[in-house]
This record gives sequence, structure tokens and C-alpha cells, in this order.
Amino acid sequence: MGLLIRNGEIVTADSRCIADIYAEDETITRIGKNLEVPAGTETVDATGKFVFPGFIDPHVHIYLPFMSTFAKDTHETGSIAALIGGTTTYIEMCCPNRNDDALEGYSLWKSKAEGHSACDYAFHMSVTKFVKETPAQLQKIVKDGTASFKIFLAYKNFFGVDDGEMYQTLMLAKRLGVIVTAHCENAELVARLQNALLAEGKKGPEWHEPSRPESVEAEGTGRFATFLENTSATGYVVHLSCEKALHVAVAAKTRGVHLHIESVIPHFILDKSHAERPGVEGMKHVMSPPLRAKHNQRALWNALALGSIDTVGTDHCPFDTEQKLMGKDAFTDIPNGIPGIEDRVNLLYTYGVERGRLPLDRFVDCASTRAAKVFGLFPRKGTIAIGSDADLVVYDPEYQGVISADTHAVNNNYSGFEGMPIEGRPSVVTVRGKVQVRDGKFVGERTRGKFLKREPAYF
Ligand SMILES: [Zn+2]
Repeated sequence: MGLLIRNGEIVTADSRCIADIYAEDETITRIGKNLEVPAGTETVDATGKFVFPGFIDPHVHIYLPFMSTFAKDTHETGSIAALIGGTTTYIEMCCPNRNDDALEGYSLWKSKAEGHSACDYAFHMSVTKFVKETPAQLQKIVKDGTASFKIFLAYKNFFGVDDGEMYQTLMLAKRLGVIVTAHCENAELVARLQNALLAEGKKGPEWHEPSRPESVEAEGTGRFATFLENTSATGYVVHLSCEKALHVAVAAKTRGVHLHIESVIPHFILDKSHAERPGVEGMKHVMSPPLRAKHNQRALWNALALGSIDTVGTDHCPFDTEQKLMGKDAFTDIPNGIPGIEDRVNLLYTYGVERGRLPLDRFVDCASTRAAKVFGLFPRKGTIAIGSDADLVVYDPEYQGVISADTHAVNNNYSGFEGMPIEGRPSVVTVRGKVQVRDGKFVGERTRGKFLKREPAYF
């Protein structure tokens, strides 16, 4: 049976018009005014609302063993939270650690998602060591449709790679045509600064930011860019947090390094004063790179509006307050992460578009289209066009609400954005032509989500 979205204002990254959209067999087949459709077609009236392409979160953690515990979401809960917030595809970081086998890790991560997700999904494969089996293993993973890698310059001895391993990963990625995403912080300096602060008795969550200052992120970003420059590989900085690192990344782009820049929603909305709150309130806001001094937000918003920052993800990573309290005696034991999968689109719309910081076309681009292009999902995802998957978000700009853990769908007992007003939310969300969300409630098929195979594209 077909689906008709009638009379909405269709907004993509490069066009805007009022029209109807008709989808059949999971795909958009017609766009036009006053479309004639078969009797019995399911119809959504989008009059007075926007219709956006399904949003894509290029950076989430769902299944995540970290600091001897596990992030709280499963694909059952995480995908529903994503959909309620308008995200119809997410790319999860597959993160086996240095002691795990890469192929076993990849199968494990895939098995956690398969048949359990309500939205579509893909993976970035983390390369957490480089040994003699690595090239053959990664080649298999790329053949399976996972055409992007992730490396960590931070998290020494756990996820982190050294410069030699980074070089080998980039050379292999170049050969396979795969993009490499990177967490850019200097591991050595983070470890040294953490120890120095703890030795001085500085143990609360307010010391997390000083243990990984902006210069440490700028150094990691610059080193990654230099390695890209000398390997001709294509890279993507994840969760860039501050003006110092932004300058380094933009300078690299300007001199022709193949580099894309992601920031994540907490860095646009929250600042380091949140992590300076006493006790568990501060711990809730510990993530890496850390929340920064507020002045950085202006630079991030401006770079986003200009398109120098390509994408906005979440680094969604829910640890509850009990887990956060593992770090009550030392900030280094606080599991890192702030959940955001459900709130990203509404926060970007409210504090970006509604506040005049982000043009509507760039909003669609940074939260959907650009991620689809960078990660090989376009034009199947990331736009509204004939032949594209019918992943659609009918968005109500009149909605007024407040973010709260009391009402959110994320499996976590707090929200990092508790009490923040939002002005707008999805009223209908579809995944390949099937209505999955209506007015903030999941109403669809819990196992509709599919693994998205991607082809290598960066030769
Ligand atoms: Zn992450």
C-alpha cells in the first residue's frame, strides 16, 4: 500500500517547495501538486508543516562496553528514541578494544542490531590495533558493506592507536577507498595531565575538562590532518568541540587535505559550567572531548552555518547516574558520555534555526544530507527525491515542549538537556514508507530497521 504526505513544505539541502509526496514499495515514486492516488492510500496531512528527509546521526554508541560497564541503550530502545526525535538512520561505532579480535567484534556488534532496530543503521568499524591479520580482516568488513573506519588517538591501551598504527590504517583505508573517522586528542598528554591533577587531590568532575584542554584536542586534530596530508587518505574528525581545534581543521581543509568535520549537539548547547556542578550533576555532563568554555559555541555555530563544520551528530552514549557515580572518588572513573539521540534534531532546530544561527537548508544538510554524502548513503538517504527511500519527517514548527528524563524514550534516568524548552518536533516519522512515529509516540514496527550496505568511495 502506498503512503501520501499531502501539502507539506518540502525542504531539502538545496530546494524548498509546497507539494505532495507519494511513496510505494519503500521508495518515493512521485512528487507534485495535488497528486492523484489509489483509493485507500494512507494519507498524512502536512499542511502548515515542514517535510524533511529522514535525519541521519553519523555518530552513536548503542552497544558499548566501556570502563567495565555497558551503555544503557539497546537497539530496541535507542532506535525508538532516535525515531521519536526524527532520526531515521544512525551509524553506530563498532568498538571492540585492543584485546578483542576485529572480526569477532564486528559480528558481535552486528548481531546486537540485526532484527532489533526500528530504524535503519550502519557501522563505522573501529581499528583499535594494527597487526598482521588486520588488513585481511578489514577488507572483509568493507566487503560486507561497512565502508568507514574509526580510530582513537585518545584512550591509550584500550581503544587508542599509536602514530604507526594510524599511518598503517590510513594507508590501508586509502587502498580500500574507505574514509577514516578519528577521535582527536593527544593520549599521552591526557594521561599525564590526569595523573598530575589526581596527585594534587583534584578529583571532581570539574577537573575532567582541565585534564584534556583545548590545546590537547587541537594537537590531535592537527596530527590527524598531517597524517591525512601525507597518505592522501580521506578523514573525518568526530565530535570537534572548540575553536582552537576548529582553526586547525579548517586550515587543513583550506590547504586541500581531504578532511570533513563533525561536531556533536552537546557542544553547541552545553558548556563546561555544566560539568562543574557538584557531584553527580557534574558527572552527568562528562564526555570527551569535554564540554568547553561557552565562548566556543559562537565559533561552532558560525562554522556550522558556513558549512565548514559538515555534520552534527550526537556521540550518543547513555550511562545512568549509578554508573556515573563510579567516578565519585576520581573523575577518571566517570564513564564518558551524554545521551542525545532523541534531542539532536529538536535542539538544532530550536537553538539553531529558530534563534537565527542556522539557515533551514543548512539545518537539513548538516543533520541529514551531508552525512549521507560523506558516508556513501546518498541519494538513497539524505534527500527527498524520486527513487530515494521514503524516510520522511513531517515537522511541526508550532510545537512547544520541554526536554525531560520523565518523558524521554532513551533508556537512561537522566537527560543532559533536562528542562530545556524546544520549539518544534516531528509529528510523523516514516522509515521506508512506513509510519513509525506519530506525535511523539512510537506506533510502528519494532524490527523494521535494516543494515545499510555502503560501497567504498574514496580512491
Ligand atoms: Zn563516540
